[in-house]
Amino acid sequence: MTRLSTIRNIGIAAHVDAGKTTLTERILHVTGRIRHSGEVHHGTTATDHLPEERAHGITIASAATYTQWQGQTVNIIDTPGHVDFTIEVERSMRVLDGAVAVLDASQGVEPQTETVWRQADRYGVPRIAFVNKMDKVGADFSMTVSELREKLGATPLVLQLPLGEEREFRGVLDIVQLCGWQFSNEQAIRFELDAGQLQLARAPRQTLTEQLAEHDDTVMAAYLSGTEPTVDELNASIRSCTAALHGTPVLCGSALAHQGITLLLDAVVAYLPSPADLAAVQAQCGDDARSFGPEDPEPLAFVFKVTSDRYGKLFFVRVYSGTLEAGSYVLNSMTGERERITRVLRMHADHEEDISALHAGEIGAVRGPKTLRTGATLVGAGSRAWQLAGLTVAEPVVSRSVQSADAASHRKLVAALTRMAEEDPTLRLGSDPETGSTLLSGMGELHLEMVMERVSREQDVTAKLGNPSVAYRETVSGAATIEHVLRRQTGGNGQFAGVQLRIEPRERGLGVMFVDATVGGSVPRTFLSSIQSGVEGALQTGLSGYPVTDVQVTLLSGKHHAVDSSDMAFRTAAAEAFRLALVQVGSVLLEPVMAVEVTTPDTHVGVVIGDLSSRRGVVLGMDARGNGQSVRAQVPLVEMFGYATQLRSLSQGRASFSMTFIGYQPT
Ligand code: GDP
Repeated sequence: MTRLSTIRNIGIAAHVDAGKTTLTERILHVTGRIRHSGEVHHGTTATDHLPEERAHGITIASAATYTQWQGQTVNIIDTPGHVDFTIEVERSMRVLDGAVAVLDASQGVEPQTETVWRQADRYGVPRIAFVNKMDKVGADFSMTVSELREKLGATPLVLQLPLGEEREFRGVLDIVQLCGWQFSNEQAIRFELDAGQLQLARAPRQTLTEQLAEHDDTVMAAYLSGTEPTVDELNASIRSCTAALHGTPVLCGSALAHQGITLLLDAVVAYLPSPADLAAVQAQCGDDARSFGPEDPEPLAFVFKVTSDRYGKLFFVRVYSGTLEAGSYVLNSMTGERERITRVLRMHADHEEDISALHAGEIGAVRGPKTLRTGATLVGAGSRAWQLAGLTVAEPVVSRSVQSADAASHRKLVAALTRMAEEDPTLRLGSDPETGSTLLSGMGELHLEMVMERVSREQDVTAKLGNPSVAYRETVSGAATIEHVLRRQTGGNGQFAGVQLRIEPRERGLGVMFVDATVGGSVPRTFLSSIQSGVEGALQTGLSGYPVTDVQVTLLSGKHHAVDSSDMAFRTAAAEAFRLALVQVGSVLLEPVMAVEVTTPDTHVGVVIGDLSSRRGVVLGMDARGNGQSVRAQVPLVEMFGYATQLRSLSQGRASFSMTFIGYQPT
């Protein structure tokens, strides 16, 4: 069993092309997980190329890769590189304890760097910044550090200075240990600084000490007494400062040239938190709450990704407490099904390894379960259905029709979309009842576009999405009581059923409730479920044709006939009664409303707010975020179509936004 404190679960986040893939490969290579020893010495691109190509595909495809560094376990979790408001981001942010943000030294902070940075802020993920491509023409370390400060409002803890830039880049000056590192043969070789280099390190060392002293009494005491804090004191302080999101260690290197990778790994181990540093997770079951810590013997695990391969489905999990053992049974808290775990796996870059169990703090994969979906919580077979808090999966709110070039490509598409819907619980595939066309539903316009783009690319088919349509709902405008008797004589037996129903609005978001308030057997028990299903059927189409929600339907009494009453009669009577009551009180149209958070530089706050207002948005508040503002608003979903494009042009690509469904409100 791996000790908790020796585990690091990290993600690597970057703007497209900053070098995330190359860096991941280099990490796996230097940690010995991709073997192409021998070839390295030949150094020719041809021999270097093949194994790397292979690794490339694997590292991209794998949701979590296991490797080891200096006796520590490092799990690298794939983070979605795109702007995305769905469960993708949430689930990967959930399972990682720290991240490496990769920047291109010649580009500085790019729009997507800003987006992933804000996401990590939002989820409280501590991170290290790796200024990559130091070997590239135009590489500028200090410009990149300034942009971290200015564009992201970060507090960069500069731990290295590059020795040489562009083609001259050959090593780094270590601000913490006050030594130098020369890059050679994929390793970093330590050397003593000369007087000139020591002089260079003086100012950044002073800055670092001051930055740390602000949050650390030991460093402060040393600083005030005029003595230098020790390397250990500095390291401990950098670690706690990073974990508390007070600062971001900044390192540099060149993934392409294998430079700085070992020092980055040292920093991951030294400064990013291990599962032992984290608070227990909160789980809920109905109204009860409970926390699960790593010492807790009861298993609790979270399924953050589902993929399929030729052996069937592979479920990537993070274990928060207890152990997940091969051959054991677990409970899927989402569905209440018991599931058997046949195999427990550790995923390497190029193979999977069967292990007997995954323990608290660990990340791996399991095979065997049938009903699991992304976002599910697993607990022990005999446990209550505890689910990790805050991970309720929302119903899709936007639909778009799928239009393919021809029938064959449509079949391919639908099959691929069906598989994706199994992996992404916020995605649904259905058909338009009016036109019969295939409808794809999800959490937003962009969500659907992204899914479509990925599927079309993977299946090599062209397809288009129709205009988005919003999932409206209706609710009742008031209360009414209706008595309705169905009496029909058709040939043999007649149909007879009488019901008295009361309908009344419920609080927004509470959904539908059916209450049986009959007394004295006016309705035989056997017909109750027919009445309920008659009402449920009628709820599907309100006065404007949308499903009716937030309503209580109470069955007050009924009438029956010994021969002529049947399930069918009661179902029909109940549906008709509900409809009559609804016509009597009238209905209100409800639309989905989103919580929108726009992060924008100060210069664009005015236009952003103006634009939100023109979309019937209600601005709820603003928070300072670095040198920008985060504007919080509620906006009807239908007004948010095309927002990503509009926001990009309003802000020259500098602002970003996230959006989550909060509920239905009257239009
Ligand atoms: P990703 O999109 O973030 O995964 O980036 P990739 O790893 O695919 O890299 C994008 C491009 O940048 C590729 O052509 C890489 O060879 C190149 N690249 C990555 N790291 C470096 C580096 O350190 N220096 C230079 N000069 N190029 C690099």
